[in-house]
Amino acid sequence: MSSKLQLWSVLILLLGGLTSCASGNIASQSPIHSDQPESTAITSPEPVTTPTTIPTPTATVTPEVIQKTYQMNKNYFIVPKVDSDNKKVVLLTFDDGPKEKPMIDEIINILDKHNAKAIFFVNGYRIKQNPDLLKLIFDRGQIIGNHSWDHINLKKENNETITKQIMDVQDIVKELTGITPEFFRPPFGTANDYIKELVKNEHMLYMTWSNGSLDWESSYKNKPLEIIKSVMEQLESGKNNILMHELPWTVIALDSLLQQIEEKGYFFVDPRAIDLEVKPD
Ligand SMILES: [Zn+2]
Repeated sequence: MSSKLQLWSVLILLLGGLTSCASGNIASQSPIHSDQPESTAITSPEPVTTPTTIPTPTATVTPEVIQKTYQMNKNYFIVPKVDSDNKKVVLLTFDDGPKEKPMIDEIINILDKHNAKAIFFVNGYRIKQNPDLLKLIFDRGQIIGNHSWDHINLKKENNETITKQIMDVQDIVKELTGITPEFFRPPFGTANDYIKELVKNEHMLYMTWSNGSLDWESSYKNKPLEIIKSVMEQLESGKNNILMHELPWTVIALDSLLQQIEEKGYFFVDPRAIDLEVKPD
């Protein structure tokens, strides 16, 4: 019990440090607060300096090219296309957002720290409430996936409703980011043939998951160490499609979790490296 408490304290300290780092970043990027007294600006004027550096022309920037070296199999495992390639690969996914800016900022700060990309499987009704948060995820280079509009059990709906639940998310994401999602995950991991066919026709890759963090279970609420344990116990070469959620205890677990995954010799696949043309077998 005492060692658990110590670990917890370390996690809290780590999070505290990360949070302050994150807020430092935010502050440094923010414009000058309008509620600052004007006298501050008058009494300490900025010295006039001539820029000495020559700006780099943006036209020379070449777009990032991602090689499609991975594919998904019928068990939703992410595997290399060439059998001899590295199988110690992990796909990270976060479902049910976008909810809150502090959580998204922190998740992406941690992903950036580990040079990792993830799929954020989003719901339309949440995008409607927080369009800026969807843009934030996209602008920070993470991948958007479709998780239906209302997070209902699609299998219980008629085809017309199913189509609307899926296509309205495609439309709002396209409207806000200019791209349409290429990955689909049904709420509760359950679907019928109509849903799978529609997803395929819309050029999306249908997936559930293979490694559930269990962060959605009530018994895992506020238990980041248990979430880490759950994922690590399921980690297996060639079989890692990890389901997490935008939840506070998952955010607390994340940095340590990613570190432990890396220490076991795994790397995080860029979702854009998954070849959508290869049919799961
Ligand atoms: Zn969900």
